[in-house]
Amino acid sequence: MYVILFGAPGSGKGTQASRIAQKVGLAHIATGDIFRQAVQRGTELGKLAQSYMDKGQLVPDDVTIRMLIERLDGLGGASGYMLDGFPRTLAQARALDEALARREVAVDKILYIKVSNEELLRRLSGRWTCRQCGAVYHQIYQPPQEPGRCDRCGGQLYQRDDDQPATAHQRLGVYFQQTAPVLEYYRQQGKLVEVDGEPAIEDVGRSLLAALGVPSPR
Ligand code: AMP
Repeated sequence: MYVILFGAPGSGKGTQASRIAQKVGLAHIATGDIFRQAVQRGTELGKLAQSYMDKGQLVPDDVTIRMLIERLDGLGGASGYMLDGFPRTLAQARALDEALARREVAVDKILYIKVSNEELLRRLSGRWTCRQCGAVYHQIYQPPQEPGRCDRCGGQLYQRDDDQPATAHQRLGVYFQQTAPVLEYYRQQGKLVEVDGEPAIEDVGRSLLAALGVPSPR
């Protein structure tokens, strides 16, 4: 199964992706995570990506597409994957379709986590991330048990540069201009499934699993 998890920054996409991918048994590929790892390692890709990420802009298509296709090649015979944060432009969506067609497979579904603009802004200005394991918290919606410490691994929480309020605003602007048209592209292919992203995290998770045909107990 080849699934795209789609949503604006602040839609809860990152939180849901790793859980759902694990439950469904799909490899989870998050381009944002790959870029952040490259930044941490100080590679050429990381240096290039950082300049865009810090400003809340998209990394150029040629670099992003090449990186994603290398990652897919690296997965070899994986029976499916869940893409998180890719495609974010029409050019990326077309490149993905071509890359999958060369492997004689295709995107099965794109799950769109729908959240209102007001709610996105509220959520984006309050996010904290664990420096060690990458877990994401929110000062109102999902606070850690101990302020500044990760519940999962005890790591230190920090506010990512791209979660600073001005950058968060910029990321939303980029989303509406460059990324939202991708929805239309897949809607026309009949592959778009909309899921309400405003209820509690567990409920959204259940809706996403149901959309993939996986029942989960209440
Ligand atoms: P994310 O963690 O998915 O919000 O991604 C963080 C940042 O990484 C984005 O704001 C972009 O600068 C960059 N990025 C991640 N995925 C892509 C992509 N598919 N195309 C371009 N830039 C991306």
